[in-house]
Amino acid sequence: MAADAPPPNIVLIYCDDLGYGDLGCYGSSISTPNLDRMAAQGVRFTNFYSANPVCSPSRAALLTGRYPTRVGVPRVFFPVDKLGLAQDEQTMANVLKARGYQTMCVGKWHLGHTPSYLPTARGFDEYFGIPYSNDMNPRLMLKNAETLEQTAALETITPRYTEQAVGFIERNKTKPFFLYMPHTYPHIPLASSDRFRGKSEQGLYGDVVTELDWSVGEILAALKKNGLEKNTLVVFSSDNGPWFQGSPGKLRGRKGQTYEGGVRVPFIARWPGRIPGGRVLDAIGSTMDLLPTFARLAGATLPAKPLDGIDIWPLLSGQKKDHTREALLYFDNWDLQCVRLGNWKLHVGRYNSFIYGPPPAAGRFNLRLRPAELYNLATDPDESFDVAAKHPEVVRDLEARIARALPTFPEEVQKAWRETEARQTAPGEPGRLPRPKA
Ligand code: MG
Repeated sequence: MAADAPPPNIVLIYCDDLGYGDLGCYGSSISTPNLDRMAAQGVRFTNFYSANPVCSPSRAALLTGRYPTRVGVPRVFFPVDKLGLAQDEQTMANVLKARGYQTMCVGKWHLGHTPSYLPTARGFDEYFGIPYSNDMNPRLMLKNAETLEQTAALETITPRYTEQAVGFIERNKTKPFFLYMPHTYPHIPLASSDRFRGKSEQGLYGDVVTELDWSVGEILAALKKNGLEKNTLVVFSSDNGPWFQGSPGKLRGRKGQTYEGGVRVPFIARWPGRIPGGRVLDAIGSTMDLLPTFARLAGATLPAKPLDGIDIWPLLSGQKKDHTREALLYFDNWDLQCVRLGNWKLHVGRYNSFIYGPPPAAGRFNLRLRPAELYNLATDPDESFDVAAKHPEVVRDLEARIARALPTFPEEVQKAWRETEARQTAPGEPGRLPRPKA
């Protein structure tokens, strides 16, 4: 970029519980023409990850570039919680605002709903949206920190978010802006506006996804109308895999699981003139990569704390097709469950609920898998065939990487890991606790 070029506008659209297989360009039968076109004009990733399989931790990682277990968000927040993203963490909005950007969050926040945790206290000049999930009560609609409605009408949410986003673009077309648009849908309860209801061949879920696609089209049209296309990076992704409906594609698992279907998400980036179009990349990317990538493009100063994400502009811009990176860790709550390096994925822990059904009254707990399970995601993308016995050197290498990474995490993570390690599994029955004696 020329030294005197103005910093680009950045639009980050983030769906809630949209599966890896839910867009036309990822093989879905749901009609998503705007996102398909965005992918055709830009770059699409096939190995892009959220840092967690549920809502709040995913957002914490997206906005800070750090694992959610480092930033005080190991689990989903509920309306009774008074907590949020740790106050000593910087968000990408803080980083871009310090560089002179106008910043707005439109949509589902879910990183704390008390005043000191709301978007307007975390680097955003403006906020409009529901501060947590649409299945939580009361379903408040906020403008900045003020409550507009006690119960937002479900069928109005996507059109209203879209109107707010377009208005922000119009108001700020002469200065650099950052629009973060975390949609409420397709998280349940589902609803679409009249215009889209019953129009898809895939039921209400399909209607909702088609409406989200329409919204993306409106954003792209607003950029074009205001002559901003060539100076705006638009990024689209999701926070975790699909829940009750929706498709993880051919991947195993869904929301709440560290199988690929829980954490691998669609990722599309478009910037005419800067991102060469029509490319599909298999390189591994993470939502944690976006903060350092945006900071580089904006010429902004990175936060002082070390990041887990890396700058992926060389991939987006076509300078590189792949890159080397540290192993990616998969957590749920404080529990470390998997690690991925290249095409290898090692499962080292898994909840007891997978073995015995619903969590027992005492709560679910993480079991150490002995032996660990190794999958080759290139040849076995749905994690069906454990090949650990054939590749003991890979298992040793990945376990050594875990051992080196763990001490860099907060004590809660290490304590959870010690507890996982202490649970004895029965020999020859991977992941099983010994059965109680009759
Ligand atoms: Mg979610």
